[in-house]
Amino acid sequence: MRRTQVAIVGAGPSGLLLSQLLASQGVDSVVLERESPEHVQGRIRAGLLEWTTVELLQEAGIGARMMREGLVHDGFDVAFADGGHRIDLKGLSGRSMLVYGQNELQKDLIEARSAEPDTVLWQVHDVALHDIGTCAPRLTYAHADRRHELHCDFVAGCDGFHGVSRAAIPVEKLTQYERTYPFGWLGLLADVPPLHEELVYVHHERGFALCSMRSHGRSRYYVQCPLEDKIEHWPDSRFWDELHARLPERYARQLVSGPSFEKSIVPLRSFVTEPMHFGRLYLVGDAAHIVPPTGAKGLNLAAADVRVLAQGIVEFYRAGSPTLLEEYSARALGRVWKATRFSWWFTTLLHRFSADPFAERLQLAELEYLAGSAAAARSLAENYVGLSFD
Ligand SMILES: Cc1cc2nc3c(=O)[nH]c(=O)nc-3n(C[C@H](O)[C@H](O)[C@H](O)COP(=O)(O)OP(=O)(O)OC[C@H]3O[C@@H](n4cnc5c(N)ncnc54)[C@H](O)[C@@H]3O)c2cc1C
Repeated sequence: MRRTQVAIVGAGPSGLLLSQLLASQGVDSVVLERESPEHVQGRIRAGLLEWTTVELLQEAGIGARMMREGLVHDGFDVAFADGGHRIDLKGLSGRSMLVYGQNELQKDLIEARSAEPDTVLWQVHDVALHDIGTCAPRLTYAHADRRHELHCDFVAGCDGFHGVSRAAIPVEKLTQYERTYPFGWLGLLADVPPLHEELVYVHHERGFALCSMRSHGRSRYYVQCPLEDKIEHWPDSRFWDELHARLPERYARQLVSGPSFEKSIVPLRSFVTEPMHFGRLYLVGDAAHIVPPTGAKGLNLAAADVRVLAQGIVEFYRAGSPTLLEEYSARALGRVWKATRFSWWFTTLLHRFSADPFAERLQLAELEYLAGSAAAARSLAENYVGLSFD
């Protein structure tokens, strides 16, 4: 039997960042992760950090490489009707974004956490949560062919959408809100220079596309695809042809293609669980909510949850006060719902939903309004860079 102050399920960005922040404040934690470190840091996912996330990572002492290698972006383009319009994030909101791959962030977090041996246990199986409604929760799990028990004061469920933490809460205690979208994103990663120095979001009659990057020599491109499509249907040549066909001429002529080294299809989903807390269990990041990636909010929301929860836990141990912990769910959900609204709106604006000419004309009218109205562009910029903390 082992004891810790905070048991954390999952070593994604939420779990490792929480562990790192707690350690910097003298709070002990143990992280239980199902996969190997190589698997976790090999996952290609998000790549855009809000500045509040950047500051939180710096506060956690893991920002050095990110600040050296990350690319500061002051704006992005929205392309439609064969033209492009720049959203000046810095000018409209005063803030920029940082391009830094989630897999790079995972590497930094893993390195930082390995300074404390035995804090992160990899390839742990059969994690089960017990007594979470009491002041003495415990976890059971299998590790290195043996069964173990971990006693703690608090459990942080940082185990993503398909994890065990949310499922441990009695179903009648939760309300879940969900919207699925009738398409997915096919993403491709290749070592070719990005077609533009900033991201380009594309609305096109063939479907949405996003031209993104991880560095000056590595591009991340996406095209909207049918949900039922399989990767085998998309050889690289078909992907490049389709992306090219969706780009206005001024971008298309700059597109450099090359062999992919990662290709995947993700379904798009909005999902929110309320509350994000039951007894001594706190849900964090994707375990509690999912947004479609259009607004680049998933990873940033996870970091925002971590910030609020870490404050609550530290306050509990420093001052003996549970007040911030009691407020965790309400404070986190305020931000989550605003980001959910924004991600839904940006997804709805840019994707092709059906062959309904009326809906298509409304999308174009809204895009033209965005291009012509400083107020509309400011609203987009404010939400994109992340709303301020209360
Ligand atoms: C395929 C994909 C692509 C994405 N692309 C983007 C994007 O382009 N832009 C964007 O902003 N966001 C994107 N996201 C969302 C973003 O990556 C997530 O919001 C972010 O990873 C959330 O971090 P997390 O730590 O909360 O959850 P996760 O990163 O999901 O981490 C959860 C961890 O828990 C572990 N785990 C799960 N179950 C168990 C268990 N039973 N026991 C122990 N460990 C367990 C998992 O192995 C994982 O390491 C994407 C997500 C996915 C899945």
